[in-house]
Amino acid sequence: MTLKEILEKFGKVDGSFVIENMMGLSQTEIFFNQNETVPKDIEIKIDEIYENYSKDYPINYLIGKKNFYGRDFYLEDGVLIPRFETEILIENILSLGVDFENILDIGCGSGIISITLALEMPKSKVLGVDISEVALDISNRNRELLGARNSEFKESNLFSSIGEEKFDLIVSNPPYINREDMKALDERVKKEPELALFGGEDGLDFYKAIIEKSHEHLNENGYIAFEIGYNQGESVKELLSNNEYGDVNLIKDYNGFDRCVIARSMI
Ligand code: GLN
Repeated sequence: MTLKEILEKFGKVDGSFVIENMMGLSQTEIFFNQNETVPKDIEIKIDEIYENYSKDYPINYLIGKKNFYGRDFYLEDGVLIPRFETEILIENILSLGVDFENILDIGCGSGIISITLALEMPKSKVLGVDISEVALDISNRNRELLGARNSEFKESNLFSSIGEEKFDLIVSNPPYINREDMKALDERVKKEPELALFGGEDGLDFYKAIIEKSHEHLNENGYIAFEIGYNQGESVKELLSNNEYGDVNLIKDYNGFDRCVIARSMI
């Protein structure tokens, strides 16, 4: 099997990802060596990966890795695959220029938001919570892998295990896909846990639940930051404005879709 054949089988993007990880070649090396033959032992492994890939398993689960904000995170079946768009949430939190002392990340999944914020803001302390044990295992593994000592992970159904603790920032990329859109998901996306995708009838269940209790866990004038679905900007803005949040800032992604909302507690 040649590199070119791999690129044809998996498509250019996933194919390069496979070659990069299985053979340690850079994008440029792949480009210039397409007729190179893959060693037999690696070919066998790639064939195994292809067997599942052809059944619509996402390539990131099969390779066990996803890059986010310039760092490679470990990944496996059972958590949401980090999306590039979530980097927009990170960028906008960082550009607030606030020295957050403690941060709560609700629904931490693989830990990308918690760990990235912890590493980008080394003076902060970040607590990531998730209801899923698999998510917590993966988050802890990523914490070790990336040396994010100022992050911590704990099982909690939203705020259920938080106690009295208060934070300067509550951040969340909750499940937000509505019932209608769930039906139209790509086969590969359907391999991701529904628990991490489905946000109730209108996709807004978790924003409502988090916002409702948020003031109990937010310091005076603290911030709240959400990733949101492509058409949820106005609804989430309204939820925030009706719940004593001000400076509500709706941020769009590079496709012009609603992508995150950041607001500040008025109490
Ligand atoms: N961005 C994901 C998607 O479009 C959804 C992530 C989420 O529900 N938080 O598939």
